[in-house]
Amino acid sequence: APEKQTLGFQAEVKQLLQLMIHSLYSNKEIFLRELISNASDAADKLRFEAINNSALFENDPELKITVAFDKAARTITISDNGIGMNREEAISHLGTIAKSGTKEFFSKLSGDQQKDAALIGQFGVGFYSGFIIADRITVETRRAGTPANEGVRWESEGAGEFSIEAIDKPGRGSDIILHLREGEDEFLSSWQLKNIIRKYSDHISLPILMQKEEWDEEKKETVLKDELETVNQASALWTRSKSDITPEQYEEFYKHISHDFGAPLAYTHNRVEGRSEYTQLLYIPTRAPFDMWDRNKRGGIKLYVKRVFIMDDAEQLMPVYLRFVKGVIDSADLPLNVSREILQESRDVKAIREGSTKRVLSLLEELANSDDQAQKDKYAGFWNEFGQVLKEGIGEDAANKERIAKLLRFASTHGDSDAQTTSFADYIGRMKEGQDKIYYVTGENFHAAKNSPHLEIFRKKGVEVLLLTDRVDEWMLSFLQDFDGKELASVAKGGLDLGKLENEAEKKQHEETETQFKDLVEKMKTSLGDKAKDVRVTFRLTDSPACLVADENELSGNLLRMLKAAGQ
Ligand code: ADP
Ligand code: MG
Repeated sequence: APEKQTLGFQAEVKQLLQLMIHSLYSNKEIFLRELISNASDAADKLRFEAINNSALFENDPELKITVAFDKAARTITISDNGIGMNREEAISHLGTIAKSGTKEFFSKLSGDQQKDAALIGQFGVGFYSGFIIADRITVETRRAGTPANEGVRWESEGAGEFSIEAIDKPGRGSDIILHLREGEDEFLSSWQLKNIIRKYSDHISLPILMQKEEWDEEKKETVLKDELETVNQASALWTRSKSDITPEQYEEFYKHISHDFGAPLAYTHNRVEGRSEYTQLLYIPTRAPFDMWDRNKRGGIKLYVKRVFIMDDAEQLMPVYLRFVKGVIDSADLPLNVSREILQESRDVKAIREGSTKRVLSLLEELANSDDQAQKDKYAGFWNEFGQVLKEGIGEDAANKERIAKLLRFASTHGDSDAQTTSFADYIGRMKEGQDKIYYVTGENFHAAKNSPHLEIFRKKGVEVLLLTDRVDEWMLSFLQDFDGKELASVAKGGLDLGKLENEAEKKQHEETETQFKDLVEKMKTSLGDKAKDVRVTFRLTDSPACLVADENELSGNLLRMLKAAGQ
């Protein structure tokens, strides 16, 4: 077997450790939640691999997590009989950060502890949170299915390096041993540990066991017995009935599956019966993840089949425009050996995706249409974080286009603020007598859109115009021609027919002016030659002398700029 070896952490790990120990100190008990969460993931992975290879259970099929402490040695040990790690896995999983976008994440850190603490929560600290209370962590682990002498001991003081050596480990899985820092002895208590487990890890579906404690009349103190007891409810949270689950439990379960430190914005939990039978527990996060725009990122849905974990990030279960949704879907119909390829084809999966999409849209509608200000504020928060992603749904999900369109919010000349709060319904409610179109202008940013010369006539007539400045807007508009029977019209395109918004006198005056300037227009056309497709007398300006407009059927100026920037 290879000798004991000392290796260095990846630079980002060092940075993370430094930052985490200080910024999360006020919330230090979360170390237990993180380590139990990992133990539970390890059990899930074992169960999944064992579907095709039951030998991995090694005659020890009862998956469980044990939490123990030793007052004299000042250690806390979290043990599982899950999948375990081999040498290479221990080196890469515990010595590097595999998350996509790690570099970008670290470049965003400001050095301001309070701000960084919030960011770090979003990033998720996982295993390394043990170093908040431990000045040394020992991991003894063996991968399921490998011989007993292929165990691995990983050890680190969290300073910059770790050691790794081979050990004998008869039982598969992992023991995480925390050697407590000076002053952290409060955790060496059954009562304390049980409280933390019940608070953060009650939803874990495996039993979490601890030694029983009993009052000893002779010694006049509590002593640990040889017997173990289960501390949590030990049933998968989503299988419990809604009325038996507290909001706190829903919240902790969210943190477990999402690796997010913050509370979710909203959730929906349903058992669906009928053609396809499944349970869904879906969450909308409060904040967008730092890597939301990463194109390689898959969705956030964990797939279970009859309570057996099958895969993370089952992107087929949710459309791309709802990729921010986190949660669990547990199907009663899919085969246990289902693969990503099978998911692609499956009709059950299609039914689940459609059903889940509807649930998420309903959840958003409930927030958006609520009379309760707190709910409305939640929707505003949602829109700020995820509005741009939801807009992709207009192009991606033709079947739900109308529903999504109702959820859209825009900045508008009505408030002249960049807050995106105006819905199409709000706009229609404020339409002028005789107005039959929904007018909008697109721009690179709010300032450009708001000061567009195309708006002059609309401002003069008191007609509201939506100000669209998100990157996806032009693309989205190519899929959205009207809303509630009213055409969406760009104020920067074509001849701009104001229809009934113009009165007879104005129309007559326009015709006269056009005749009057006919010669000038012809001269300008000749001198501009190929540079302009057409020259027209316009009535849409009140202050500016001239402006450029795009043809009805052509790409707008803003989209052209975007395509150019993208190198097209
Ligand atoms: P995350 O859980 O978000 O992946 P962590 O920092 O919590 O990140 O854990 C890092 C990785 O270390 C895990 O993804 C897993 O591969 C491995 N790991 C941690 N704890 C265990 C464990 N008890 N058993 C097996 N693997 C583990
Ligand atoms: Mg983890």
